[in-house]
Amino acid sequence: MVFNDCLRLREGCHAAGEKVSDTEVQRRVVTLAKHTPQRAWLAEAPSVALVQACNDARRAYRNWFDSLSGRRKGRRVGHPAFRRKRGRQSMRLSRNGFALHGERLYVAKAGNIKVRWSRPLPSEPSSVTVIREADGRYYASFVVERGTAPLPPCDREVGVDVGLGRLMVTSDGEIIANPRFLRARERHLARAQRALSRKQEGSANRARARHRVAVLHRKVREARLDHAHKTALRLVRDNQAVYAEDLAVSGLARTRLAKSVHDAGWSQLLRLFEEKAEHHGREFRRIGRFEPTSQVCSACGANDGPKPLSVRIWACGACGVVHDRDVNAARNILAAGRADKSNACGGGVRPPHAVAAAGEAGTHRSAA
Ligand SMILES: [Zn+2]
Repeated sequence: MVFNDCLRLREGCHAAGEKVSDTEVQRRVVTLAKHTPQRAWLAEAPSVALVQACNDARRAYRNWFDSLSGRRKGRRVGHPAFRRKRGRQSMRLSRNGFALHGERLYVAKAGNIKVRWSRPLPSEPSSVTVIREADGRYYASFVVERGTAPLPPCDREVGVDVGLGRLMVTSDGEIIANPRFLRARERHLARAQRALSRKQEGSANRARARHRVAVLHRKVREARLDHAHKTALRLVRDNQAVYAEDLAVSGLARTRLAKSVHDAGWSQLLRLFEEKAEHHGREFRRIGRFEPTSQVCSACGANDGPKPLSVRIWACGACGVVHDRDVNAARNILAAGRADKSNACGGGVRPPHAVAAAGEAGTHRSAA
């Protein structure tokens, strides 16, 4: 609500040619609004959460504005969406908005809340996000500092091709599919969504169907995340370095499939690789430039031209080697990643463990 009020106010002022400062926005949306009957409930909400909502809205608005005026580089940022009351809601609280009393979580203005812990907290959290999922469940997500747990160095490296039909294919030729139970859940979800669209607007049946969709949605999301965690951990554990193509530069990002790539959790997967590699003292590198990974033969380097997505297996016209499309792409990603790394290290290819052991920055600087 506060987020939406902030956006509306900023837009109104912009249309009227009026400049408002960030503190003025906050004053009008929070402090003054508390005295109106429609927003009287704001007095019940923890003020740190209200300030956080104002800050989030300011960032969203500014990103969009800077993107329009060309001040912000990279992908165009859309107009910030108004947040809906239905569906997922969240509230972020910094250090002075919450406290932990043993098993209980104290939230400002809400009081003590009993928490079912999914795992013990490794250290004192610096903030908490309380999320109300669309299916009515509440979650508390803590930000904590975590020490690293470096793994002994090894000399294997792998390139991964993240895809649509298959979750991932590695340069070793391993195919990691989405697990069967996940696909089954996705089918259930699709069925529930179709059922929802047939229900009459505003009916009790519709509300029930919507709840069912929300529950299935959460199950799919959790199952996918769990699988992604396990896959990322295994690859980071088995390899000194993992290379993947950045979604922003991949060939797929230029197609209309990009949306479903996002849905497949590509960016989430890359983030997990990053996190786990950092935690375990391993390396993860994104290939940050466009490479025609599915067109180039990984054996001889000949560019065989673009191929429609339906072509899964092809024989190189130059050297005759038969390739699985995705394995070939993963091998090219591995090669591109190694080339990127040796460039970053000042030209010389150094043994992978030297990079990890000495710490990245130090090694690079001394080599440059
Ligand atoms: Zn070839």
